[in-house]
Order: sequence, then structure tokens, then C-alpha cells
Amino acid sequence: MNSLTNGRTKSAALFGAALAGVLVIGTPANAQDGQTATAELRTGEGEPVGTAQFVETPGGVEITVNVTGNVAPGERGMHIHESGDLSDPAFESAGDHFNPTDAEHGFDNSNGPHAGDLDNIIVAEDGTASYSYLNDRITLSGGENAILDSDGSSLIIHDMPDDYTTDDDPETGPGMSGDRVAAGEIEGSESLPDTGGPALLVPAGAALAALGAGALLFVRRLRARA
Ligand code: ZN
Repeated sequence: MNSLTNGRTKSAALFGAALAGVLVIGTPANAQDGQTATAELRTGEGEPVGTAQFVETPGGVEITVNVTGNVAPGERGMHIHESGDLSDPAFESAGDHFNPTDAEHGFDNSNGPHAGDLDNIIVAEDGTASYSYLNDRITLSGGENAILDSDGSSLIIHDMPDDYTTDDDPETGPGMSGDRVAAGEIEGSESLPDTGGPALLVPAGAALAALGAGALLFVRRLRARA
């Protein structure tokens, strides 16, 4: 055994592994910041209702909703539901409120709220609404409170205001919010271009790992010649 070339082989391997390791460790802890998602809201008959935007921020997920029509004026409950399945026209297929922590419903419930609970949305007399809410109980992706999980999630507007208290009512459901009148599947987007660290780091890490492997092969060839 030639101890010198063996040493080189180990060095090349360690060099490649170290570079890859630095790149992985170098990923910012708040890598999800700036990630976005959207939902196109519609009625059970497929009429457009508006759009919702979700942006991951250090303080939580900032949710903005713009209602453009097809929902009657008034104060209405609105929640993130546990599934993105909206195949049922009554949107029952979306399941219950998103609730990964096994809490009860409602901000005013001592055992609440659900992670997916939101402030009521108020639709004006002209049928429009502009709404924003910062939810620090959810993330878009990463961790058990991620709404972009394997079965997705949806944003649903109800027929009646959420009373923020009732865990469940046999007739009108959690918060006594009633029927589900509009909904949209929450669909994730790529990171914003100016925060695209992870998207760039992965190919860079792969390239450097390949470089390390190439150096390893080169040293092995040298050893074979010797
Ligand atoms: Zn709830």
C-alpha cells in the first residue's frame, strides 16, 4: 500500500465532502422566508370570487384576500381547511379546519384556536373585500404546522360569521360559521427570486460534490499507475 497516494485519496474525498457540507450548513435558518402561495377562490358553481396570497415572513404567514364578487355582503367566517380537495361542490371534501396541534376551535376558546383559524372577512355592500391577517400558527412548508403538506390545504369562506368560541355545532359547525360558500386550493409557488438561496445552493453543492468525486478518481488513477 502506497501511503502517500492513499493519503491523497482521503484528502480529496474529505475536501469534496467538506465543500458540500459548508454549502448545506450555509443555508439560512429562515430559508422559507419569502416563499409564497396563492389560492383562486370560487363558488361551488365555479364562479370566480377572488384571490388569496400567502407569504412566509419571520413573524408568520401573511395572508391577503381580495374578494371581487359572487359572495353576498356581510361578515363571514374564513378558515384554512386541512385538505386541498375541493371536488365536492359543498366543499365538504376539504375536511375540518387545519389543526395539527389538536386544539379546539376559536380565538376565544381557552383550548383554542386551531392553527387554521382566521379573523372574519367583511364583504362590503358592493360585494368586494380587502383583507389581511398574519398567522403565526402556520408555515407554508417545513414543520408539522406546514399547510403545504401531502394532502394540501384550502381557504374557505363561510356563510355566517365565526363566533370565535364554539368548538363545534351540529348544525353550523365550528364557530357556527355555517355553509362553505367559496373556496380555493392553496398552491405553493417557488421562492421569490431575491431570496432564492436554496434553489441555487442545491445545484452548486451537487457541482462541487461532483468536483470532489472527480478529484478522487484522478488520485485513484495516479495510484493505479504507481
Ligand atoms: Zn377552527
